[in-house]
Amino acid sequence: MTTIDETAIGETDWRRAADLIDAAGSLALACHVSPDGDALGAMLGLGLALARTGKKVVASFGDRVFAVPRLLRFLPGQRLLVEPSAYPAEPDLMVTFDASTMERLGLLAPHAGKAGELVVIDHHVSNTRFGTVHLVDPTAASTTMVVEELIRRLGLTVDREVATCLYAGLVTDTGSFRHSITTPAAHAMAGRLLATGLRPEEIARELWDRSPFAYLRVLGTALGRAALEPDAAGGLGLVWTYVSRADRAAEGLPYDEVEGMIDVVRRVDEAEVAVVLKEDDEGGWNVSTRSKGAVDVARACAALGGGGHPRAAGFSSALSVADTLAALRPHLAPEGSRP
Ligand code: 5GP
Ligand code: MN
Repeated sequence: MTTIDETAIGETDWRRAADLIDAAGSLALACHVSPDGDALGAMLGLGLALARTGKKVVASFGDRVFAVPRLLRFLPGQRLLVEPSAYPAEPDLMVTFDASTMERLGLLAPHAGKAGELVVIDHHVSNTRFGTVHLVDPTAASTTMVVEELIRRLGLTVDREVATCLYAGLVTDTGSFRHSITTPAAHAMAGRLLATGLRPEEIARELWDRSPFAYLRVLGTALGRAALEPDAAGGLGLVWTYVSRADRAAEGLPYDEVEGMIDVVRRVDEAEVAVVLKEDDEGGWNVSTRSKGAVDVARACAALGGGGHPRAAGFSSALSVADTLAALRPHLAPEGSRP
């Protein structure tokens, strides 16, 4: 993990971001498409803290079909959300969350291009710095860690609702404090958030411990066809499966319910890399990849037009399952020896 100073956020950037936000009467917030707990939690956490001060806040994400994933509907602050069609075309001040590139804003990318000032808040090492001010810290376990510091610098309050949003991002991106990115600072932040009275067991249940019965049926189908390729990933092994829209339609399961399937597949001991291909309702494939540390899946996914973190990344594919895997396999060579 990088801990070098050049990755930290400079004082000038903190001050510029805080001054812009302080001075703004209205703000337009946006997170990446198909938001996860960190993207939506960071956006709604800052949005709620700002809305409490009387500022006009709108928040959105640029999916063609605009819907908050079912498992994130418990997050406070949903009243701030507007559809992309109702989003300001040329916001004076726009703030983005957990998006490493402008493209990750989907339908809202043109709005970001026309914003007067664009504050980019993120923790992806691959962030392309597409804004006018950048709060990008790759050593942060989650984007919500950067947001918590910004809220402190703005002199705003982290109440239980704001804390719930920030905590959701923290536990999502650290995998409940299991991933290598889990730092003392991540635990320290969890301590501060817990002190507001939030309910960790309720947040965990919403995020990971509930599903419609149809999920078990579709999971069974997907696991039944899981394939192990011991020779792939430079001999370290690849395990993969897919979920088609036909699989989901057969059980009436919405797309967002299959997000967590990668967490079952990635547990396989015999594989360094795990891949789950998920077909959306339009027939496109979203590919989730995970590694145990020897293979940089962010680099592999970037080669195919996607991105992410070294051990958790993704990309979109218009090809068939077989052709998508054929395109991916050559990029799964290990960087070095296992850590
Ligand atoms: P997940 O597999 O959970 O959807 O995504 C894992 C990580 O990869 C997250 O950090 C997510 O933001 C990133 N990611 C997933 N899909 C894409 C993509 O198409 N492009 C980019 N740049 N990042 C992605
Ligand atoms: Mn994140």
